[in-house]
Amino acid sequence: MAFYNPIAGLEVICGPMFSGKSEELIRRLRRAKIAKQRVMVFKPRIDDRYSEDRIVSHSEQSLDAQVVSSPEEIWEMLDDRTEVIGIDEVQFFDKSIVALCERLANLGRRVIVAGLDLDYKGVPFEPVPQLMAVAEYVTKTLAVCHRCGAPASRTQRIVRSEERIVVGALNAYEARCRRCFEPDLPNQLTMDLKET
Ligand code: ADP
Ligand code: MG
Ligand code: ZN
Repeated sequence: MAFYNPIAGLEVICGPMFSGKSEELIRRLRRAKIAKQRVMVFKPRIDDRYSEDRIVSHSEQSLDAQVVSSPEEIWEMLDDRTEVIGIDEVQFFDKSIVALCERLANLGRRVIVAGLDLDYKGVPFEPVPQLMAVAEYVTKTLAVCHRCGAPASRTQRIVRSEERIVVGALNAYEARCRRCFEPDLPNQLTMDLKET
């Protein structure tokens, strides 16, 4: 008879940039390791450039991770004995990540994902809303508003670009509260995005 794992299920950690999503993911995964559970960690390859094979927080905590191009690659790389699966920057995967997380949770694994719930326009960032809907646990982390110090739920883009994803740009984003968030700002700026 298959053994029942009481920690099996899906946990979503979501919120804006700088809100501590990666820190919280790293904290949960470290605790799982302390409990001697077998842990595997993944992050998406978001462009062709070299990706560091670690998940890293803005507070410089980090954890070794496998860099993958698709949810399918996670499935292929998984060791049968893995009990806990962590995925950071989950918003960069296509919607098949939802079926993968469900499948792993149904197979008795604990799946913990972290990612942006909103894009820079304040629009839900699929597949995160879909993951939130099927998860057992949803944690919303808030940052500190760069403008006024209030709890910040939005990611403000402060460089000009209409791409949903801007990678490799230093200082391209700030955390903002609802009142200080300016979704049209990236269109109004005259300064073009400079690659760093
Ligand atoms: P996320 O993964 O959500 O982008 P991280 O876990 O990488 O967040 O980083 C959280 C850390 O970022 C905080 O503990 C703090 O040290 C730092 N930080 C920098 N700017 C802010 C801000 N505006 N609000 C909160 N934390 C910030
Ligand atoms: Mg992060
Ligand atoms: Zn504010």
